Amino acid sequence: MLLIKCPFCGDRDELEFSCGGEAHIARPLAENTLTDAEFADYLFLRDNPKGVFLERWIHTDGCRRWFNVARDTVSHEIIEVYPMGETPKTEAAKAAHKASWRRQTAAEAAAKPASPAGRSGS
Ligand SMILES: [Zn+2]
Repeated sequence: MLLIKCPFCGDRDELEFSCGGEAHIARPLAENTLTDAEFADYLFLRDNPKGVFLERWIHTDGCRRWFNVARDTVSHEIIEVYPMGETPKTEAAKAAHKASWRRQTAAEAAAKPASPAGRSGS
């Protein structure tokens, strides 16, 4: 049984949470040039590493808020809990984020505007 530290409620039993799968999957912008195969990779392929894995969790029986967890899939040790929209801070979790094959995908590149200078507004 895991003891998960919800960033809003504190330590709670694993049974109060639901895992939302892999974290940090960037959604391609509407205007992208992805092939069907590249889009299928974005949509369907999920990592399943032996070691540090970055996951999204929701406190379903508590505050119902989402957050990220860096967890070792072998020992189940929770290395870090951090907010949605941020990247991990611990060295092991940062290394897992950087080493993920997903950082090199066409879908990840298509999630960022081609030219930030060309964007209008805020
Ligand atoms: Zn909570």
